[in-house]
Amino acid sequence: MTLKVYNSLTRQEEEFVPLHEGRVGIYVCGPTVYEDAHLGHGKTYVNFDIIVRYLRYLGYKVRYVQNITDVGHLLDSGEDRILKGVARERVEPMELVETYTRRYFEDMDALNVLRPDISPRASGHIPEQIELVKTLVEKGYAYEVNGSVYFDVAKWPEYGKLSGRRVEELMEGARVEVNPEKRHPADFALWRRAEPEHIMRWLSLWGWGFPGWHAECSAMSTKYLGQPFDIHGGGMENKFPHHDCEIAQSEAAAGVPFCRYWLHNGMLMIKGEEMHKSLGNFVTLREAWERYSPLAIRFFILGGHYRSPLDFSETALQAAGKGLERLYGTVQAVRERLLSTDSGTDLTDRSFMAKLAEHKARFLEAMDDDFNTATAIGALFDLNREVNTLLDSEEEISRETLVAINDLYRELGGDILGVIPEEIAKGAAGLEEPLIELLIETREKLREARKWDLADEIRARMAELGIALEDRPEGARWRISRQ
Ligand SMILES: [Zn+2]
Repeated sequence: MTLKVYNSLTRQEEEFVPLHEGRVGIYVCGPTVYEDAHLGHGKTYVNFDIIVRYLRYLGYKVRYVQNITDVGHLLDSGEDRILKGVARERVEPMELVETYTRRYFEDMDALNVLRPDISPRASGHIPEQIELVKTLVEKGYAYEVNGSVYFDVAKWPEYGKLSGRRVEELMEGARVEVNPEKRHPADFALWRRAEPEHIMRWLSLWGWGFPGWHAECSAMSTKYLGQPFDIHGGGMENKFPHHDCEIAQSEAAAGVPFCRYWLHNGMLMIKGEEMHKSLGNFVTLREAWERYSPLAIRFFILGGHYRSPLDFSETALQAAGKGLERLYGTVQAVRERLLSTDSGTDLTDRSFMAKLAEHKARFLEAMDDDFNTATAIGALFDLNREVNTLLDSEEEISRETLVAINDLYRELGGDILGVIPEEIAKGAAGLEEPLIELLIETREKLREARKWDLADEIRARMAELGIALEDRPEGARWRISRQ
């Protein structure tokens, strides 16, 4: 089996061959940390998490770099995102970005998105960005005007090759900002002059200023992955201008190709529309957690192909949650059965083992086809039905078969898809369940004795351990909440 990926640069599906055998370098454009991450971020980083997980599953040693944008990313209005957050919360810029960087990682942890190997910050790589701009000026691909430096698109005819936009088209586009400093309306800022009131600024060869947004990704990706490197990922909406700018400036500066495979994920939509604050359909991940479990959201995202847009709706989310419950139910049943099955017996059902291999092959075949998680999940549900039929039958199931089933869920649903956490197994394992019941009983007795503080403390400590209690008329119910 060979892994095929759709390369946005060549606009076709290609066999994936890394530059260096056994190793993959991947860079994905990270968040701008000035407010909480929203559902769209959830989709993007779950999509790339699967790509990284699968490459690792295939045996590659992956170096995953995802930047933290904490400087230089302007809104369409020209306002600096970080400074906007600073004005909103009346804090230091570094205080703001620290807060939202931590919150971003907490959100990603909840979605079971594995952390990147390197999370470089733009503000920590200003010298590298200045160096890149300096090289471009020296080579004649960039020019300075009043302390700002622009990339000269007229000197780089390939500009726009990723998105397929031509400079002439851009010329006609009325939406291109009018800036008298630019020689050509499509020229983009590599370095911006900072006015005295701009608090995030650095001294450069061109005076006080700050880097243009595109510069950080070129400087940081090649610093940690070399040039060229294997995979560059990001949201479809960043193809132009962001990624085209990255390619132009990196290739002009180094004289060699920037990156070999470009992977773009489709956007998350709400009722067929893009998410926008102005449309009032903007949902942060933390708001979404109030209604759905993070893993149900992850499972919902994986139900579509990463390149396709995905429509977020109440019904779709509920369906994803129910699907996940079905998988958990079976996994728990298998693991419970395993606990009560003697280790001595070995009556392996050969035909069932063959079926397991078949389902696994179908799952992997789907993943090899440009990480098609939607089809892979279909294979997982077929497996689930098969396992349920086996469990419901009166047949004796050997321990070896149960172990094989359990391992397969762990491999496909746990390691690759990241939707079946190990905790699912623990609820049924030995002493944990009776111990939880014992704690609940103790808490009940404390409440009866009106020792509310102690009772609340038990509830809070259990919540910290990932066990949520729900008080009902018939008594407290519990569930593993880190699902
Ligand atoms: Zn980027």
